[in-house]
Amino acid sequence: MLLMTRHPDVMKEELRELETQISELRLRQAVIVNELDKVNTAGADGHRSMPDWVSSWLDVEHAGASELVSAARLIGKYRPINFRLAEGRITFDRALATMRLAEVGADEATVRHSESLDLAGVRRLTAMQRRVGRRDEREVAADRFLAVQPTLDESAYRVSGVLTGTDGRLFERSLYERADEMRLLPGGEATTRGQRQADALVAMAMDSLDRNRSDDGASPGAQVSVFVDLDEANGTGGESGCAIEYGPRVGPNTLEELLCTGSVRVVGLSGGKAIVTSEAARAIPPAVRRLVAHRDGGCTIGGCTSRYRLEPHHIVPRSRGGTHDPGNLATLCWLHHHIAVHLQGFHIDPDSPPLQRRLTRVPAGPDPPRRT
Ligand SMILES: [Zn+2]
Ligand SMILES: [Zn+2]
Repeated sequence: MLLMTRHPDVMKEELRELETQISELRLRQAVIVNELDKVNTAGADGHRSMPDWVSSWLDVEHAGASELVSAARLIGKYRPINFRLAEGRITFDRALATMRLAEVGADEATVRHSESLDLAGVRRLTAMQRRVGRRDEREVAADRFLAVQPTLDESAYRVSGVLTGTDGRLFERSLYERADEMRLLPGGEATTRGQRQADALVAMAMDSLDRNRSDDGASPGAQVSVFVDLDEANGTGGESGCAIEYGPRVGPNTLEELLCTGSVRVVGLSGGKAIVTSEAARAIPPAVRRLVAHRDGGCTIGGCTSRYRLEPHHIVPRSRGGTHDPGNLATLCWLHHHIAVHLQGFHIDPDSPPLQRRLTRVPAGPDPPRRT
């Protein structure tokens, strides 16, 4: 309570004053570490490196120890910078960042310019100054990789990797361009940049698969069997989730999309035994697909001019008793179908005009039959 009575300006000043003191203490530590480094204290104490030794001796995180050693090794070289640090005119972090900038060969004007930047700006400037040698290049090239890792039940995948500078720039540009085409959601409801980039990557992958695609209009990879526990799901396609043969576990949303887009074979299970392929879950007959595609001539969402991967969608979903009747089908582009409807959870307003469809948050059609 006592603290609350102090004026914020007073506390802000004190905060700065304490940082100056910390910086001063860090400088004194750096000077000592510099001396100990010279007499190989780490080796004498059985440690592999000075940062290891500092981390162990002071019981601090390795990152902090590395910073201290890094500063200790630069400290003798850049006396004017350390003079300003010792006088409390700059912080320890600022001094270290400036020394690193000088260390990569920045001229005096560049170092002076860095004073007007924040610390992140100085780090960027340092990275830009650093000359990339042949060895650096070879290292990055050797380190390049891309890993695609499914979670245990394969309901999600994690993607990570390292590309060389030029390849990375190229990949980034094509990904950004593609992601910019993904801003189509209704009602000002935007997807995040990260979500659009993820969607863009999937679109790029699908286009690549297209080179080997048959001409039946089905999405690549959609020729899968889905096992649904009929006892659990009551034949509705499942509020309980289901498994794809040799593939990821999917939830009801994904199943509904599979039923829209391709010839997915749904196998009903009862008591763990396969019952015959469910008639109700069969894919849209090819003749009906063609009819609907011809009738709509493109994405039926009002104002959408995209013709990217046009797919038929069930206005009343299969899981809510919707049929393959052409009246229950609307052609959607991939963005509206895959992203807006099946990923983001929008529904088609059944009362909207057939070629000027509106998206809504309210599900269309009757509720699924509930088990008693
Ligand atoms: Zn659909
Ligand atoms: Zn569309």
